[in-house]
Amino acid sequence: MTANSRHAPLSQFPVEDDQLLVGGRPLPDLAEQVGGTPFYAYDRDAMARRVHTLREALPKAVSLHYAVKANPMPAVVDYLRPRVDGFDVASLQEMRVALDAGAPPEQVSIAGPGKRPEELQAAVAAGVTVNVESPGELERLARAGAETGKRPLAAVRVNPDFELKSSGMKMSGGPKQFGIDAEQVPGVLRRLGELDVHFRGFHIFSGSQNLSAESIREAQDATFALAYRLAEHAPGPVELLNIGGGFGIPYFPGEQPLDLAACTDNLAGRMAECRRRLGDAEVVLELGRYLVGEAGVYACRVLDRKISREQIFLVTDGGLHHHLAASGNFGQIIRKNYPVVTPDHVQGGARETVSVVGPLCTPLDLLADRVEMGRAEEGDLVAVLQSGAYGYSASPHRFLGHPPPLEVLV
Ligand SMILES: *Cc1c(COP(=O)(O)O)cnc(C)c1O
Repeated sequence: MTANSRHAPLSQFPVEDDQLLVGGRPLPDLAEQVGGTPFYAYDRDAMARRVHTLREALPKAVSLHYAVKANPMPAVVDYLRPRVDGFDVASLQEMRVALDAGAPPEQVSIAGPGKRPEELQAAVAAGVTVNVESPGELERLARAGAETGKRPLAAVRVNPDFELKSSGMKMSGGPKQFGIDAEQVPGVLRRLGELDVHFRGFHIFSGSQNLSAESIREAQDATFALAYRLAEHAPGPVELLNIGGGFGIPYFPGEQPLDLAACTDNLAGRMAECRRRLGDAEVVLELGRYLVGEAGVYACRVLDRKISREQIFLVTDGGLHHHLAASGNFGQIIRKNYPVVTPDHVQGGARETVSVVGPLCTPLDLLADRVEMGRAEEGDLVAVLQSGAYGYSASPHRFLGHPPPLEVLV
C-alpha cells in the first residue's frame, strides 16, 4: 500500500458481514429508501453517542453549544436541540433554523463579520445574543435596538492576542476580520456601557479542526486569562463566556482522534478559578464538526468504470459540487483523501487501487486519488466517510447544473 492509498481510522460506523451500517442499515437499503443517489445520511445514534461521551467528560458547569454552520439541516438541528444547551448561528437563516427547532432565544448567539442591518434587527427582535465584531457594529446594534424598541443583548467577540497552534483553520491572532482585537476591547466595553445595550459577556474563538490536545489546552488557558483581564473593563457582570471549541476529527491518513479527556480535564481544572474571578458566568464550549462530522456519510453511485493508462477511475454521479471538502478544495493546502470505502466490501473481497471522480468537466472533481478499496462495478455505491459537517451546505450545488444531493437523518 502506498501512503496515498491508506485511510484515516474507520471506526465511525459498525461493519457487519463486511457491510457498512449507517442508521443500523446497509447503504444500498438506504439508497432505496432515499429514492436515489447521491445522498448524505446522518446517523442519529452516532450524534447522540458523541454528545453523551462529551457530556460524561465535560465538567457539569460547562454548557455545550452546537455551531449550526457545521450542519444546518433542520432535522439535525431539531434532533440536537434537546441534547445541547444552546446554538451558535452565523446568519439570519441559521438563526431561523435554531428558533424553529425550539431553541430559547437566550440560548442562541449570532456571530459573523458583516451582519446585515436586517440580521441585527431580527436578532434583537428575537432576543438572541449578538456577538459584536467591530466598534462600528456596536453602534449599528444600538441603532437596531432603538428601531426595534428592544434592548440588544451583546457579547464582545474578541480577536485574541494569541493563536491556536496546529489548528486546521486559524481564526484568531494577528490581523483578522473576526472579532475585535483584544487591545481594542477595553475601549469598546467603555462605549458599550454608554449605549442602551445589555452586556452579556465574551466570545473568544481561536480556531477549528484541531487534533492536538496540548494546543487546545494552551488555548483554553490563554482564553480564560484573557477573559479575566478584559472583565476588569466590563460595564457589568460577565454572564457568558464562550470559549470556542476547536475540537477536530481525523480525516486523513496518519491522523489520530483527539484526546478528549486531556481537553476536558484541563477545563475542569480551570472552573474553580473561573468561579472566583467571574462569579456565575456561564462557560460555553461551542462545537460544530466534533458533534456531527463523524456521524455523516456521503453516498454516490458508480456510473462508469474506466482505465486510463493503467489507472482505474470510478466515475460517479457525485462529486465536488456536492462535497467540496472531500475534493480538497475547501481550504486545504495539500490535497489528501477523505476515507472512502465500497460500502458492501469495507475490508474484504477483491481489493484494488482506484481514483473516484465525479461527472464534472474539471480535474478538481476528485473524491479520492488512488485509494485502496473493495472492487466496485458500474451501479455499485461508494461512500465517503467523515461527511457529517461542512458537506452539503458547504458545496457549490449549482456548478455545472447537475442535480443536488439528497439529505436524510437515519
Ligand atoms: C466555524 C465556527 C465554529 C465551528 O467550528 P467547528 O470546527 O465546526 O467546531 C464555531 N464557532 C465559530 C465562531 C465558528 O466560526
